[in-house]
Parts: sequence; structure tokens; C-alpha cells
Amino acid sequence: MTDIKSMTLEEITGALREMGEPAFRGKQVFTWLHRGAVSFDAMSNLSKALREKLAAAYTITAPKVACKQVSRLDGTMKYLWELGDGNCIETVLMHYHHGNTVCISSQVGCRMGCAFCASTLGGKVRNLTASEMLDQVLFTQLDSGETISNIVLMGIGEPLDNLDTVLRFLELVNHPDGLHIGMRHISLSTCGLIPGIRRLGELELQLTLSVSLHAPDSETRSRIMPVNRAYNVDALFEACHWYFQKTGRRISFEYAMIDGVNDQDWQADLIAQKVRGMPAHVNLIPLNDVRESPWKPSRRIAAFQKRLEEHGITATVRRSLGGDIDAACGQLRKRAAEAQREEHLS
Ligand code: SAH
Repeated sequence: MTDIKSMTLEEITGALREMGEPAFRGKQVFTWLHRGAVSFDAMSNLSKALREKLAAAYTITAPKVACKQVSRLDGTMKYLWELGDGNCIETVLMHYHHGNTVCISSQVGCRMGCAFCASTLGGKVRNLTASEMLDQVLFTQLDSGETISNIVLMGIGEPLDNLDTVLRFLELVNHPDGLHIGMRHISLSTCGLIPGIRRLGELELQLTLSVSLHAPDSETRSRIMPVNRAYNVDALFEACHWYFQKTGRRISFEYAMIDGVNDQDWQADLIAQKVRGMPAHVNLIPLNDVRESPWKPSRRIAAFQKRLEEHGITATVRRSLGGDIDAACGQLRKRAAEAQREEHLS
């Protein structure tokens, strides 16, 4: 059985043509799928015979809501979705003045091993399919009744570790006959997989690249981000300069402020030195306190921001949303897994 929602319009049209159907059927099926149809039976403009033929060859993914939390503080919604194989992933819906934004996952778990991140504690289980990424947008929109205008690939997983599928997802979600979300409304966040940054740059997409920097010096970065041992921060900055030259798109650097680790003035000075020559935006993130982690939130965020600004760098502090729900990266999935394990033991 083939996962039809991961197929492009051209692929669906081609498959239908092989079944002896006219070209416009492809668009009909594609449109149904991207409106959230969960069975071929719902596709009322197709003949019963064709619906049966499709149902015999293709599946339609549809995640189930395993848990949903709504913040009483700001209305942020967090979904824990159960996928077809029983694995769970998270999606967060945030309300900003510039529109509703979903933060979606790209993998079940993660193998990047960042020391402060909850998503990586159990390692990577598997990559998500393009349909499973699309479903997070589609079903969050359907369940919440709210129109989604922006997407950030900043949930569980490393998007550049699943790049072929992420590119397919981007094509699907951007399609005029689908959700039609513009590339300029999409951000992709990476811990710094340089070959992926190069591949993405060659495509010259209009999306925003976010780089999880978290330290400008190799020693500190290697301590909190194992990826730095494979792709060190100087090579990363070089790739970022190249990416800007190639695409003309300003890069956003994510920087989780960790007490006594990466929050010193000399590190702000070093960031300024390393980004010289390209417009950069540094997004300072108050560290989410992960219980198992020895790292604590910094108390120097304002001072660090001021120091960056003195160097002429745009630095913002990320507003923390959903503080009363398990909004911190990967924590809902982790808690659910723990609860399940406890159930098995008792
Ligand atoms: N793998 C990608 C995208 C997912 S993580 C990446 O690394 O960019 C999304 C962002 O959340 C990253 O910037 C990540 O470093 C950050 N993050 C992870 N755990 C965090 C925590 N405990 N507090 C603050 N930010 C965190």
C-alpha cells in the first residue's frame, strides 16, 4: 500500500492516468487530500469503482489526537499526535500578531544529542513522511478551526537529517491546490548540518533559515552540541555567509541562554565578529528547564542582548508562550512515554 498524501500532484496524476483516468482526476484527488479527507469514500466526485480501486492500492494517513493542551495564559495549543504506527509527535499552535504559526516535528525523536534538549533523550526512532508533516498543519487547522499562515520546522527532530522528505513536504504545503502556504511564511531550523545547508542554499528557496548556534566558540559548542564535533562552528559560519550570498536571505540565529555557559560578554563579542558582513538576527531564547538537564536558565539575557546591540546586531528575546502547558521542546512526548512505561510496570 502506498501513502498517497506524500505524493505530488504530478505523481498522483500519473498514477491515475495509468488506471485509465483523465488528467483532471489527479487534481480532484489532490484537493480532497489537502482538505483533510481521511477516506476515498469521502471523495464524492469520483466514481464508486475508482474509489474502490484507489482504496485497494493506497492509504491515507490521519493522525489521532493523543493529547491536547491549551494554555490559559495565551491560548497556545499543544497537540500530541498518535501516528499510524503508534509513535507520537508534537505540534504547537501559537498566536502571533502576524498570524497563526504551527511549530511542526520532522522526525520521531532526534539523534543530534544536544545536551539541553528533551527531544533527543531517547534518540531517533524514525523519520517522518511528507504526509505526516503535512498532517500536522492540516489537522491542527481542522481541529482548532483556526487558519494557519506560518510554519516553523522547529519541533521534534532535525529537518536537515530528513531533507529529501522535508523538501517534498515544502512542495506539498506550498502548492496552490493545497494549503498554499508561501515559502516566505516558512522557517526551517537546523543544529548546523553543513551539507544540508549547502543543498538548501543551492535551491535558493525563499524560506527563512534558522541556525541553532547556542555558542560562537568551538569549545563551548562542542560541550552542549555534539554536532559541533562533526561540523565545527567556524565551518558553520562560513556556510552561513555562503548561504546569505547565494540566497540573499537573512539568517536567524537561535541562542538558548544557559547560565554561566554561553551567556558571557566575550561570547556576544565573538558572535558579532563571526557574523560581520552579513545581516543577522539573533533570537535569544530563555532556556526551557528540562528536569533531567544540569543546565540552568541564564540571568544575563538583557545584558547579552544589549552587548549584541552595541555591535549593531539585531537581537530579540523570544517571548515564551504556553508556559503553563508542557510547551518546552519535546517534553509532552517524553512525559507521555514515561506515563505509558509506568502503566506497563504497574
Ligand atoms: N533540530 C533543529 C530543530 C528543532 S529544535 C534545531 O536544532 O534547530 C528547535 C530549537 O529549540 C533549537 O534552536 C533548539 O536548540 C531549541 N531548544 C531545544 N531545547 C531547548 C531548551 N531546553 N530550551 C530552549 N531552547 C531549546
